[in-house]
Amino acid sequence: MFVIGTAGHVDHGKSTLVYALTGINPDRLREEQERQMTIDLGFAWLTLPSGREVSIIDVPGHEDFIKNMLAGVGGIDVALFVVAADESVMPQTREHLAIIDLLKVPYGVVALTKSDLVQDPEWLELVREEVREELRGTVLEGASIIPVSAVTGRGLQELLGELDRILDVAQPRQDLGRPRLSIDRVFSIAGFGTVVTGTLIDGRLTVGEEVQILPGDLRARIRGLQMHKTKVQEALPGSRVAINLSGVAVEDLRRGQVVTRPGWLEPTMLLDARLKLLNRVPWPLKHNAAVEFYAGSARVVGYVRILDKEQLLPGEMAWVQLRLAEPVAVVRGDRYIVRLASPSLTLGGGEIVQPHAPRRYPRFRSEIIARLEALSRGTCAEVFLELLAGTTILEARELIQRSNFSVMEATRTLRALVEKGEIIILAAQIPEEQALAHCAVPLLARNTWEGLLTQIKEILEAYHERFPLRAGMPREELKSRLQMGAEHFNLILERAAREGELVVTPLAVRLPAHRVVLSPDQRRAVDRVLAMFRADPYMPPSLAQVEGELGSELLQFLLEEGLLIKVSDSVLFDAETYAEMERRVVAYLKEHQRITVAEVRDLFGTSRKYALGFLEDLDRRHITKRLGDVRILR
Ligand code: GDP
Repeated sequence: MFVIGTAGHVDHGKSTLVYALTGINPDRLREEQERQMTIDLGFAWLTLPSGREVSIIDVPGHEDFIKNMLAGVGGIDVALFVVAADESVMPQTREHLAIIDLLKVPYGVVALTKSDLVQDPEWLELVREEVREELRGTVLEGASIIPVSAVTGRGLQELLGELDRILDVAQPRQDLGRPRLSIDRVFSIAGFGTVVTGTLIDGRLTVGEEVQILPGDLRARIRGLQMHKTKVQEALPGSRVAINLSGVAVEDLRRGQVVTRPGWLEPTMLLDARLKLLNRVPWPLKHNAAVEFYAGSARVVGYVRILDKEQLLPGEMAWVQLRLAEPVAVVRGDRYIVRLASPSLTLGGGEIVQPHAPRRYPRFRSEIIARLEALSRGTCAEVFLELLAGTTILEARELIQRSNFSVMEATRTLRALVEKGEIIILAAQIPEEQALAHCAVPLLARNTWEGLLTQIKEILEAYHERFPLRAGMPREELKSRLQMGAEHFNLILERAAREGELVVTPLAVRLPAHRVVLSPDQRRAVDRVLAMFRADPYMPPSLAQVEGELGSELLQFLLEEGLLIKVSDSVLFDAETYAEMERRVVAYLKEHQRITVAEVRDLFGTSRKYALGFLEDLDRRHITKRLGDVRILR
């Protein structure tokens, strides 16, 4: 399916031409009919001589209505560019042409309307020449220029034939497997409820499917679909579609929101882009200038941060960051326009290279500019690696969506990069190719992985040197040193352990080569303390005493090695004694069902403090359970 959009100066005969071609009056409001001006997008459709059906959006020409024009022009394949033969090129002719050019509308044809009003063939030639001159250097350069008249019917067949000829070779809109429809109209129909219209791109929509509406994160279900007033079960990319939605109220919807499949598209307020300032803008664009930003049918206020120039001169290009006052739902590769509200003026536009800028960049940084250039040029593989540059970790589905390649190409490329080891997947198994597009497994570039491993090893090396008696670095401490979320951190440790790079226990991490070795002095001190424990096993030295004898590092070592067991802030037992006490208490409980602190005290001939500490430790380990004054077995 293809969408044709009209453009051109007000009163140059766009709506009349659409009516003459289609028999449908695209002016939809009574007010428009009365004023004979198309103040909102009008829609019509047409069967070309070949039998091909196309949609026509009639975009109004009046300066005040430029917003509507932009809402419509974002999704069109062919520009039907109208210039009245009697008046020739006018200011809005130029502005609309500039917008068509900035949005890179791929195809176009020029209709010289009202040709019946021009008697002099030389005049017609002059107008034709002037138009040809205007088109030079734009996407419409070389487009056919066809004199037509809605009054006499002249040229209409030729125009239809030309549209067919263009569409014979036109690239149909891609099916990227993730539909988007930028809402240009919202209304309700009695008996049906909420209806939105727009041009569907990048995928199909089906009756019954659940959709997400962004920004605003609303959910709804598709109750019905219409193309050209005909019900359909499935709408194809590149068509004008009306969607009847259930589960969402008209008041919650507005032009500029995007209807899509749930879960992948995230609105943004900071994006990286290429910006061209139009030649006809009378002054340079300053850094941080306030503009109106248009993409799809969205319009929001924003600020232009110019990254590689002091200011942008008319006719020049720059790398920019657009800081928006409200979120918009756009993807990499989308085209946009920036305008000034007052005086009303189209400034320029370009391509969105990264919808989610990782941060606000400092200006004049060559490495940042180089990165943006790579992102804008790259193949799918290059874009993946660029998106994963630095220390970025992205989920597989995020990476695929941000790259803006078709799901098929993206998953194939990703799979190949993972197999080549250029991208590391943080999972024990590589998911199936089909599953990659939906799966949340984190990915990182090989460089990032290697950098992380080196960093972890350096941290551990320093740690082992500083605390030679500790078996390893507590996981929590390492995690906070790396400033990493728990989920990614755990997956990274798992992988490093699988590969034998690190030894990971539930609480600590160490280098595989690290061994705790005691000096002869330390060994003697440890033996002496352990002997004290054996001498009086049920009333052994307190924690403070042991610390006094050995120091906290050596005490920590004995605890980590499991030679001593800490049951409270002051009470320790040696491991053998603890195990024996546990056996005897459990046996006692099996026989008597319950045990008190005093009974434990008497059982081992110890004091209340030791007995209580020991029992509380059994409670913590879920061996026993306290019920009032007694313990029972769990
Ligand atoms: P739009 O603002 O570009 O949509 O222009 P309209 O389609 O509303 O046309 C503006 C005026 O030009 C109307 O009064 C039309 O009747 C008139 N008009 C449009 N096409 C032709 C044509 O081919 N010949 C003549 N003589 N008048 C035309």
